[in-house]
Amino acid sequence: MSTVELSGITKTYGGTAVVDGLDLTLPDGSLTVLVGPSGCGKSTTLRITAGLETADGGTVRIDGRDVTGAAPRERDVAMVFQNYALYPQLSVAGNIAFPLRNAGVGKAEAAQRARAAAVRVGIEDLLTRKPRQLSGGQQQRVAIARALVRTPSVFLFDEPLSNLDAKLRVELRSEIRRLQQELGITALYVTHDQEEAMTIADQLVVLNAGRIAQRGTPDELYRTPADTFVAGFIGSPGTNLVDGTARDGVFEVDGLSWPVPAAVAGAVTFGVRPEDLIVAPDADGHARVDLVELLGPRYVVIVKVGERRLTAVIEASVVAAWPAVPQPGDRVRVQVRPGREHLFDAATGARL
Ligand code: ADP
Repeated sequence: MSTVELSGITKTYGGTAVVDGLDLTLPDGSLTVLVGPSGCGKSTTLRITAGLETADGGTVRIDGRDVTGAAPRERDVAMVFQNYALYPQLSVAGNIAFPLRNAGVGKAEAAQRARAAAVRVGIEDLLTRKPRQLSGGQQQRVAIARALVRTPSVFLFDEPLSNLDAKLRVELRSEIRRLQQELGITALYVTHDQEEAMTIADQLVVLNAGRIAQRGTPDELYRTPADTFVAGFIGSPGTNLVDGTARDGVFEVDGLSWPVPAAVAGAVTFGVRPEDLIVAPDADGHARVDLVELLGPRYVVIVKVGERRLTAVIEASVVAAWPAVPQPGDRVRVQVRPGREHLFDAATGARL
């Protein structure tokens, strides 16, 4: 059981602050996901937490103890990497037992605990194999078993699923989540995949250029994105963002005219999630269908209003009630589900 506190963490490479004054608490027993585009400083933050990288400024505390200058093994953290990082010459059992043997645990006890960890991740049948005789998913299970065998204070995951195929990623992410919850171990998990982040996080932290754009529960970030960056990044497809002018309770630009609260005036960015855009067939509509994709139970429909493209997600059951499935070129009208708009300052991108 551990709380991790990062305070004022800064890291500079070649004159650029890749982590820029980051303050973040990982509450005891929770799973925090750092998400953001490639290069935003996620791995650097994780590696500083692990002690694999030294911060230029700021402190790292684990359970109130200042570990800023401590080596990784003094921090009682266990890491799972994207590339598994297994020892090729050791068997699965040897790999899992390695941290125990390293810590001086006797051979018999280490073997027994390695087996128990293998059972937890469903690879007890593979204990005598070498890593090269395993699939990617099996190798990552070995790495996860190796991380949990010592029951560390903190789990650190650095893009653990990025080398696996889509189906396995979905399977393994919920297993990681289940294990983390069962063991109650505080965890920090880095991914560029917002869907993965949304599905497993207690606390979701969006990083943009080394700074926290927003933190909260996945639901909070989805419902009330703090700025246009978060609105565009969280959700797939991302939020439609349209720059225009608000006046007397109406947002307008290039043939679009949507209601907004009367108090909002001036240059604003109007955000609307694809599922909150109501598209309906209308022979007099001023929008046209540009592209239609059926994605399982819903359609992704790109409509064009003038030269502007907007993305709508429409339930297949809704489209079933239309005279026909929309085709490129069809005329439609486009409205926003009342109250579902997100309004941002056009200059700063901050939520209004
Ligand atoms: P992310 O994990 O979000 O993709 P990283 O934390 O790995 O991002 O990297 C952040 C930025 O710092 C990137 O621009 C990367 O190129 C740079 N960077 C990371 N490690 C080093 C290093 N050892 N030397 C120089 N630049 C680095």
